[in-house]
Amino acid sequence: MTGLTGLRAVVTGGASGIGLATARLLAAQGARVAVLDRDPSPVTGLLFPVEADVCDDASVGAAVATVAEEFGGLDILVNNAGIGAIGTVEDNPDEEWHRVLDVNVLGIVRTSRAALPYLRRSAHAAIVNTCSIAATAGLPQRALYSATKGAVLSLTLAMAADHVREGVRVNCVNPGTADTPWVTRLLDAAADPEAERAALNARQPLGRLVLADEVAAAIVYLAGPAAASVTGTALAVDGGMQGLRLRPATAS
Ligand code: NAD
Repeated sequence: MTGLTGLRAVVTGGASGIGLATARLLAAQGARVAVLDRDPSPVTGLLFPVEADVCDDASVGAAVATVAEEFGGLDILVNNAGIGAIGTVEDNPDEEWHRVLDVNVLGIVRTSRAALPYLRRSAHAAIVNTCSIAATAGLPQRALYSATKGAVLSLTLAMAADHVREGVRVNCVNPGTADTPWVTRLLDAAADPEAERAALNARQPLGRLVLADEVAAAIVYLAGPAAASVTGTALAVDGGMQGLRLRPATAS
């Protein structure tokens, strides 16, 4: 497919998991794609790797300017870089709260701030933020992570309002638990990884983890001209986890 031919994109956290799947799909549909990551070394092929840390304003500004110069502008920003945190509100020290908020929320602020001057000049400007089911459902042991993703959801709506008259659409995707290197790391750290995987599968009505490619397809839709009338939305890609209420399988 070549539905995005001529468009120029940046994907943060694009060297792994959902970001890498998104970068590849954007490129497969014809876009020129830069991967902005603190470790872009896994990136190969048509993708343009740029090393930057979304916690460092100067690094982000320089990376976005480099991409815009290389591509002759910018049309799509996918704010996907994110990190996790486990625990209740009693468990994470202040330093961890600051660190995870810095990546997951301020990372979006910094990258968007750097990209907006270029996006305003685009005829098809779109920002897509990777949010989470954790923004809309209470999950155990995810107080800090959920707080960051709740902020991403609200920030998405506020940005959509601020920039709609500048021709910049802003949306987010809310993945359920997705089968990425992040989740593999979590499972590897569990006392019983198989039991943990089975529990995560069972939590999603479809009975399995979401695939990175499935989240990427939603991001690419929201980023492209097919979604020209879509702004200020959160698109769930969560195996039905947010919207469905099923009876136990044996009683259905
Ligand atoms: P991942 O760990 O596989 O990939 C994350 C990427 O972000 C890595 O390449 C990493 O190097 C990069 N990154 C991290 N911190 C960075 C920083 N400070 N600056 C630049 N790059 C940085 O993770 P994933 O599972 O693909 O998750 C991607 C996004 O999806 C995150 O925002 C996450 O919160 C969200 N999400 C994931 C899941 C899931 O179950 N995997 C579910 C819902 C939402």
